[in-house]
Amino acid sequence: MSATELISLVCCDLGAIVRGRSLPAPELGEHLHSGVSWVPANHALTPLGTLAEESPFDSLGDLRLVPDPQTHVRVEPDRQTSALEFVLCDILQTDGEQWDCCPRRFLREALAELRSQLGARLLASFEHEFQLLGTEAAPPAFSLEAQRRSEPFAAAVMAALTQAGVQPERFLCEYAPHQFEVPVAAAEGIAAADRAVVLREVVREVARRHELRVSFAALLDPSWPGNGVHIHLSLLDADGQTLMYDSRRPAGLSELAGRFAAGILRHSSALSALCAPSPVSAERLTPHRWSAGAACLGAANRETLLRIPSPITFAGRQPQTQTHLEYRGADATANPYLALGAIVRAGIQGVREELPAAAILDRDPSALEGAQASSYGVGALPASLEDSLLALQADRTVSGWLAPQLREVYLAIKRTELRAVADLDVDEICRRYAEIY
Ligand code: GLU
Ligand code: MG
Repeated sequence: MSATELISLVCCDLGAIVRGRSLPAPELGEHLHSGVSWVPANHALTPLGTLAEESPFDSLGDLRLVPDPQTHVRVEPDRQTSALEFVLCDILQTDGEQWDCCPRRFLREALAELRSQLGARLLASFEHEFQLLGTEAAPPAFSLEAQRRSEPFAAAVMAALTQAGVQPERFLCEYAPHQFEVPVAAAEGIAAADRAVVLREVVREVARRHELRVSFAALLDPSWPGNGVHIHLSLLDADGQTLMYDSRRPAGLSELAGRFAAGILRHSSALSALCAPSPVSAERLTPHRWSAGAACLGAANRETLLRIPSPITFAGRQPQTQTHLEYRGADATANPYLALGAIVRAGIQGVREELPAAAILDRDPSALEGAQASSYGVGALPASLEDSLLALQADRTVSGWLAPQLREVYLAIKRTELRAVADLDVDEICRRYAEIY
């Protein structure tokens, strides 16, 4: 290993920007336990670059970024550039105590709650979409032509993700211009959200190496569908057996999973503030973009916030190993730990309150009127980030999951973003966010 290679100790901040500090790679060992210094005000930075107005953090305070060796990523160098090497970190106080605003802590506590309340473990995967920017006319969607034109980028993305331990499963040329999707294998617990952070950074690295510009922003062009992050979730018991499947029930979804879904739907407006948190995110979540047009549960339905993907029942495949929920309402402007932690907590709440299992919608939710819509439990998603922030504040249950300081700084960041783009039209906001994400 060359002494000039750097390794970065990083965390994913509240606006889903990965920030941190780099040191000579051979010195990692000296910093494994106590980490490197960090500053509370780093978590009051907005994605637009400025500090949040009304932030609880000022020039005071010290923290530590402490690496989790399980998350060590290395993508080998090529002829032009050095290796991409980083480790994801927890954010601790200088006495080693947990820090209230650490996103990994938030998810870890939600997973502990899942274990203690439901005796369950979580298996999850984040399915990302992204687009290349500034290229010529797009080839046909899903075409072999599109795949071949995306080479050698496509193969390099898959190779780099494999080196990074993300276990990519497929490379899809999606519907919107120059849009791609990379589903990855499910991982247990916090590793699923770690993979989301790693995937974005590795795709960005491969794009840089190919002199391409890539964006995971929720929406690049309001006349096209956007870039979703679909979160696939399964619950397992302590022996690793699924808690999601019951052959006697509609779509094979167990009562527990139906209640878990009902909890997510009940809190869906507030969840949007954490899962779809950029000023253009709500615009992506409108009908007929095949994202999520309404807050409801559907089987094999790409217009519903929660979907039960159809299990394969031939070639020796069994539905019990496949039946799960897909939350379609997130995007890559969301911090994956906050998004997943809040979804899990909402699901637990649905089970704890014994909510009736969510009804399963078999059609386009926008085709339903009043009474029919409410019989399926179809609700609207917030029309804007302002609305979802108001819903978060109004939903005492969801806002109660956030430590007071985390809630305060998160709202301060999001309000600062809204103020900064208040005079821009939607196309300009899309352009602005495309440059950041
Ligand atoms: N692009 C859609 C979204 O914004 C998802 C399309 C699909 O993969 O079903 O969520
Ligand atoms: Mg897709």
